[in-house]
Parts: sequence; structure tokens; C-alpha cells
Amino acid sequence: MQITFNHFEDNTPSCRTFYFTPEQPFAYTAGQFIELTLPHDNPDKRGIKRWFTLSSSPPQARLSITTKFAANGGSSFKAALQELKPGTQLTMSSPMGDFVLPKMIQTPLVFVAGGIGITPFLSMFKWLKDTGEQRPIRFLQAVSNEDEIGFQDVLDGARQHATIVVSQPSAAWGGERGHLSADLILGLEPPTKDSLFYISGPETLVETLATDLAAAGLDKHQIVGDYFPNYPAD
Ligand SMILES: Cc1cc2nc3c(=O)[nH]c(=O)nc-3n(C[C@H](O)[C@H](O)[C@H](O)COP(=O)(O)OP(=O)(O)OC[C@H]3O[C@@H](n4cnc5c(N)ncnc54)[C@H](O)[C@@H]3O)c2cc1C
Repeated sequence: MQITFNHFEDNTPSCRTFYFTPEQPFAYTAGQFIELTLPHDNPDKRGIKRWFTLSSSPPQARLSITTKFAANGGSSFKAALQELKPGTQLTMSSPMGDFVLPKMIQTPLVFVAGGIGITPFLSMFKWLKDTGEQRPIRFLQAVSNEDEIGFQDVLDGARQHATIVVSQPSAAWGGERGHLSADLILGLEPPTKDSLFYISGPETLVETLATDLAAAGLDKHQIVGDYFPNYPAD
């Protein structure tokens, strides 16, 4: 499907959201991803296609993606994305993926976002706000430093509190410090037999947490992962 770039918005020093108008109404479920094709001159070996979670909410007319830019040595794709001009047309695939809210609204949920892994949760929080649906969610967000804490407006809209874990905090930071680990997650949110743990972020981080949570006693069906390749874990 054709989409037209409209505008962008900076969320943190490294994260930016890009807004697009689809040529026709586009049905998807909060948390799903698409493949975006961005032809550009001299693409590097990673090419002209990327998967992105839609960070928008399905009832919204515009679609958005939210991405992170490497401090240096980023791909030619991301450089081309930063150069997009309003009115540029791009191609997007149909929505894919099952990293979506469970059917039972009373299921206790633990959302764990490593850095840019927050994107499916942004879509879900916006959707909860748009629909007025309420769910029992504990939200943990890991960032490298305090400047990378963003999206407060989205959390406020969904009346959602975040427990933030900072890996390289300033001396003034009064919250959780260090790296995400199964011990830290389970210490903050002891599991019940019904709870589901949704983990999203860099592939290596999600793999490690999923393995460690299973080793700590969670049943495999309680762990739902969304794996972003090619990002280093902060
Ligand atoms: C289901 C799914 C959903 C996803 N959702 C999102 C999302 O919502 N937001 C999002 O940002 N990403 C998402 N991703 C990941 C996305 O598809 C890209 O893999 C990611 O953004 C990295 O992009 P990039 O390759 O352009 O690298 P960059 O972001 O430019 O850089 C990432 C790292 O790779 C290095 N690097 C860049 N180019 C090269 C190169 N040519 N050779 C060697 N190293 C290089 C950089 O130095 C940096 O360390 C998702 C992936 C999947 C599978």
C-alpha cells in the first residue's frame, strides 16, 4: 500500500516518530508491525526495507513509526528516513505479528520495554486511551540515561505509570539503576499463574530475559517476545 509522509516529531535525543497518511483506511491491531520500503541512492548492505512496529493507534487516521538513530555509523536507510520530505510516497506491507493484547481483558500484564522496544506498547497505550478499555498493566521501561525517557504524554493518556530503569544514570537519578534482568523484573512484579510478560526490544536483550524468566519458573506461554534485530542492547 502507498503511504505519504506527513511530518515527524522528536521524542528523545535519539528517537523520532514519523507520521504517514495511508492512501486508504488501514486495518491493524495495536502492537503489529509492517515492512517499509524506502528506495534511496547507494543503499548499504542492509538494503532498502525495514520492519517497524506501528506506534500509532488503529482508530487514528494517520499511521506512525517510531525509531532510534545511532549516534554514529547508522545505516543508509536511516539516513534516507531522516531526509524524507513531506509529500514523499513510500510503500508499506500489510500488518503482521501477534505481539498484541490478549483477548481476556482481566489478564495481568507485565510490559517490559528495552529502549526503542517501547513502540508496540505505545500503540497499545494509545489504543487503550482511544477505546477507554482498562487493563491491569505493570510497565517497566529501560533506558540508557534520563534524556532517553520520553513518551510521557502517551503514558498520561492511558493513565499508565512507568517504572524506569536507567543503565547510565546521573548522580541525581532517584529511581531504579542498572540493567534489566529477570531478578529485577520478578522482584518488582512477582508473577501469578495467569500473568503474561510481554518483552520488547533489542533481540539479544529479549532472548536473555526470556531465557532467564523461564529459568526462574515462568511457564513458556507466559513469556511473549518482540525481537528487534540489529540493535545493540544498551
Ligand atoms: C517485528 C519487528 C518490529 C520492529 N519494530 C521496530 C520499531 O518499532 N522501531 C525501530 O526502530 N526498529 C524496529 N525494528 C528493527 C528495525 O527493523 C531495524 O532492524 C532497526 O531499526 C535497525 O535499523 P538499521 O539496520 O537501519 O540500523 P541503525 O538503526 O542505523 O543502526 C543500528 C546499529 O547497527 C549499526 N549499523 C547500521 N548500519 C550498519 C551497516 N550497514 N553495517 C554494520 N552495522 C551497521 C549501527 O552502528 C548501530 O549500532 C523491528 C524489527 C522487527 C523484526
